[in-house]
Amino acid sequence: MEAVKKPVGRFAPTPSGRMHLGNVFAALIAWASIRCRDGELVLRMEDLDTQRTSAEFAQTLREDLLWLGLDWDRETPAQSQRSAVYDGYFQHLADMGLLYPCYCTRSQLHNVNAPHLSDGTYVYPGTCRDLSPEAQTAFGRAPAWRLRVPDRLWQLDDMAQGHFEQNLAVDCGDFVVRRADGVYVYQLAVTVDDGEAGVTEVVRGMDLLGSAPRQMYLQELLGFAHPTYGHVPMLLSSDGRRLSKRDKDLDLGVLRRTRKPEALIGFLAHAAGIIDQPACLSAKELAGEFSWEKLRKTDIYLDINHI
Ligand code: GLU
Repeated sequence: MEAVKKPVGRFAPTPSGRMHLGNVFAALIAWASIRCRDGELVLRMEDLDTQRTSAEFAQTLREDLLWLGLDWDRETPAQSQRSAVYDGYFQHLADMGLLYPCYCTRSQLHNVNAPHLSDGTYVYPGTCRDLSPEAQTAFGRAPAWRLRVPDRLWQLDDMAQGHFEQNLAVDCGDFVVRRADGVYVYQLAVTVDDGEAGVTEVVRGMDLLGSAPRQMYLQELLGFAHPTYGHVPMLLSSDGRRLSKRDKDLDLGVLRRTRKPEALIGFLAHAAGIIDQPACLSAKELAGEFSWEKLRKTDIYLDINHI
């Protein structure tokens, strides 16, 4: 009988600052969901944006995860070190005839007369899709590269959000995989990195749910299996504001000075519906309590004075 494969999850933080409560929450759920089934966790630093990220922040992130009690089994190379690997996959897409150069400027794109998506991006209208080679050369500058998307529905059953579907041709349009400055974009890097690391389960914030269909399309083109997805709800303050990196008093740099990890984990676990009564909880205890059925599916309001 074939042995049942262990699930493989991941942390994929962007080392651009201290973890805030939203990052902590997504990391806790990613860890608990894997550890409660005795699976494996991979850590990867998503530092494609070299202006905003640093090795110091990456080191602090590792320490913050360990302080919370969240360990991992291996760390794979940071994205900034992997452009030669991404080159190979980019070439593969080019060989399939699916890429084309795009010369649209930022302001042209900003003024696109098309619906904008909730994350502020727009549906690309295909301006550069059929440019002749002469027209391409006439621009005289390096282009970004876009991937043609098919008119087809992508569907997933998200462990937190339930059924989700998107037609990339309608909801997104052809999307950039490499910028004009040669830097690969998140969508390509995350697909390659998760695929090569054998990740079977992607757990992250709800704000990335709309990216999943682009990644599923790339997985199919590049020969990777689709992972299962769990997009955890956003954390909001009691007045309905989304908590973010700007809430400096809620990042781990501050919280670690005054709180114990068990207090923080218990607070979040209770707010998320994983435990019924407020209590202190270690990461291990959280894994014992965790199930996707218990996790609240909608935005989670936090009374931040009670952490
Ligand atoms: N690097 C992203 C972040 O820190 C997460 C991307 C992902 O999980 O796919 O928000």
